[in-house]
Amino acid sequence: MALNKIFRAVIMGPPGSGKGTVSARITKTFGLKHISSGDILRANINAKTELGLLTKSCIDQGQLVPDDVMSRLILSDLRGLDSWLLDGFPRTVSQADALDEACSVDTVINLNVPFQTIKQRLTSRWTHLPSGRVYNTDFNPPKVPGFDDVTGEPLVQRDDDTPETVTRRLKAYETQTEPVLEYYRSKGVLQTFSGTETNKIWPHVEVFLHRKLSFVKEQVA
Ligand code: ATP
Ligand code: MG
Repeated sequence: MALNKIFRAVIMGPPGSGKGTVSARITKTFGLKHISSGDILRANINAKTELGLLTKSCIDQGQLVPDDVMSRLILSDLRGLDSWLLDGFPRTVSQADALDEACSVDTVINLNVPFQTIKQRLTSRWTHLPSGRVYNTDFNPPKVPGFDDVTGEPLVQRDDDTPETVTRRLKAYETQTEPVLEYYRSKGVLQTFSGTETNKIWPHVEVFLHRKLSFVKEQVA
């Protein structure tokens, strides 16, 4: 399906709720450009850029990168793009305010997955860093253990996917990111999808976006 109208979406949910996987499917089905703050930060850490060096210890400790750094980084990436799917930003009310000053958001997809499920998932997760593709040794293993299905390149376990750091990331989510859900709920753009399996959540997201996008098109027609 080709997109012929400006459409700006944010995907939210606790760490490991399936944002990356659902985003990849949205990109494939609807052609929205995926912008993942976590993937951008990890690419910078990998390439040892100034930004990467500055943010690595924050990320490894499961803490959030300062708002001004994040907002400047992501807003400059959005410049020049009409439509997008933001993943991992905004993560604080201050970031949501910064985004709101720059442009409006059409819809916010909230993946509501129990913390219990998440803890199990993250500690058995393997990531292909260049693409952000994720695998899970329990329920979604790569074809060849330790290697990406598409490129054949090695998979790694993220430094922040250890049990202690996962606990800290969930805490940061509760205190700093949950208020952002309220922020978007009060604007009337929040759509919540609950479940424990991405494959069961995805069809609902897909139906929702199909409706939403055909409605957007009718409005301009
Ligand atoms: P997932 O593991 O599903 O990708 P996550 O939300 O924990 O979920 P990322 O989005 O990849 O992971 O982010 C990893 C880390 O990067 C965060 O724990 C945080 O330290 C930092 N980070 C990413 N986005 C932001 C942001 N918008 N504001 C502050 N810190 C951020
Ligand atoms: Mg992610």
